[in-house]
Amino acid sequence: MARESIVIVEDEPDIREVIEYNLSREGYKVTSSGDGQSGLETVRKEAPDLVVLDLMLPGVDGIEICRRLKADPLTRGIPIIMVTAKGEESDVVLGLGVGADDYVSKPFSPKALMARVKAVLRRGSLKEERGAGERLVYGGLAIDAARHEVRVDGKSEEFTATEFRLLHILASNPERVFTRDHLIRRVIGEHAIVNDRNIDVHVRAIRKKLGPYREVVRTMRGVGYRFRPLEESEE
Ligand code: CA
Repeated sequence: MARESIVIVEDEPDIREVIEYNLSREGYKVTSSGDGQSGLETVRKEAPDLVVLDLMLPGVDGIEICRRLKADPLTRGIPIIMVTAKGEESDVVLGLGVGADDYVSKPFSPKALMARVKAVLRRGSLKEERGAGERLVYGGLAIDAARHEVRVDGKSEEFTATEFRLLHILASNPERVFTRDHLIRRVIGEHAIVNDRNIDVHVRAIRKKLGPYREVVRTMRGVGYRFRPLEESEE
């Protein structure tokens, strides 16, 4: 079976080897780089399906690599999973802000990384199948953009316009981590006078209405939110 190709950019040999080993064992085609400059060149040359990118690198750092890859039309569509130091939430926010798709924090288990890799690759293939105004169905949860309707186990639930937009953005991009700032811009608008708490209040209201599916809206502590379909609990 032909599997996706993945480029790893990581300067610590031990960690690089662990990632290489685990990805190769899953059947992915793996290419590695030990510094930022060669990492950029490798990604441009390989055009992989995914990049696993350490943020702390000698030379060109991970944030800058991410920024350059997302600025280049040739590499813009390649998803990036950042590897961050423990507790560096500001790095996560920065990385997501320059277009990274997801992150794992050191120390991470190979299992957690594999779950992120599979989710991001799956999302890439789903994105192409998915139209703009259609119906999103996750088990007993159905979100109908055209009718502006959310059904929970067949029963229609009343959502405010803001709650609906918030849930729809999250559910249209399962597994993608959204910062609160991003959600405020997308859902409430650039110029609205709101703070992070407002988003949290909307999320609480959404969860209440989702009843048995409340867990699909996950809090990423210190960062924001992500939508995770219930049947996919790999971690
Ligand atoms: Ca490093």
